[in-house]
Amino acid sequence: MKTIGLLGGMSWESTIGYYRAINQGVKQALGGLHSAKIAMYSIDFAELEKMQHAGDWQGAAEILITAARKIENAGADALLICTNTMHKVATEVANAIHIPLLHIADATAQELHRHNIQSVGLLGTAFTMEQEFYKGRLQHEHQLKVLVPDEDDRKTVHRIIYQELCQGTILPASQQAYLQIITKLADAGAEAVILGCTEIGMLIQQKDTNITLFDTTTIHAAKAVEFALAE
Ligand code: GLU
Repeated sequence: MKTIGLLGGMSWESTIGYYRAINQGVKQALGGLHSAKIAMYSIDFAELEKMQHAGDWQGAAEILITAARKIENAGADALLICTNTMHKVATEVANAIHIPLLHIADATAQELHRHNIQSVGLLGTAFTMEQEFYKGRLQHEHQLKVLVPDEDDRKTVHRIIYQELCQGTILPASQQAYLQIITKLADAGAEAVILGCTEIGMLIQQKDTNITLFDTTTIHAAKAVEFALAE
C-alpha cells in the first residue's frame, strides 16, 4: 500500500472527513484491521484565510509549499490538498515537490463524466465558483457546462462556509438556504450539483435532496484510496 499525503487544516473540520473516508475506503477494500498509511500536515487556517481575503496568493502558496515538502519528506507517495479553494495554487505546489498531486477538480470531473453528466451546478467559495482555476478548469479542460448561483446566492454560500462550516457550526436555516440554491441550479438546467467545498458535506447530504450531488471530499478521498491500493 502506498502512503497518502494530506495537506489539511483548511479547515480541520473537513480534514476529519478525509481521514475517516480514506481509512474507511482502505478497510472496505482490505478488511479486518487494515487502515490507510497517511502522512498529514495540518496548517493554521486563520493565517491562510487572512491571506486569501487579502489576495495574497503568493503568501498562501508559500505556506502550502512548505507544508507539502514536509509531507513529501515524511514519506508520502502522493499529495492531496484537502480543499477546493487552495487548488488556486495547485500548480505552484505541484512544481515544488517530486510526488504527484491528485487534483480535486480533475477527480470530480472524471466522476461526472463516468455518470454522463454534461451540465453541472457548482457550489463553493466565491474563489471556486468564479475563477478560472476551478470553474474554468471544469469548463475548458473537462468540457463541462458549469452553472453557478447568482451573485447574492454566491455571497450566501461563501459566507456560510467561512462563518459557519469552517467553524463547525451547522444551522438548519443555512441548510435550507443551500437546498433552495441547489434547486435553483437544477431549475436552470444543472443535471447534478458539485459540493465544491470540502465542508459542504457537513451541511448537505444526498438524503436531503432528489438532485444528484457530487461531494468533492468523498470523491477526492476515493481517488486517494484508489491510488494507494493500485499495483
Ligand atoms: N474547504 C473549503 C474548500 O474546499 C474552503 C476553505 C478554504 O478556503 O480552503 O474550498
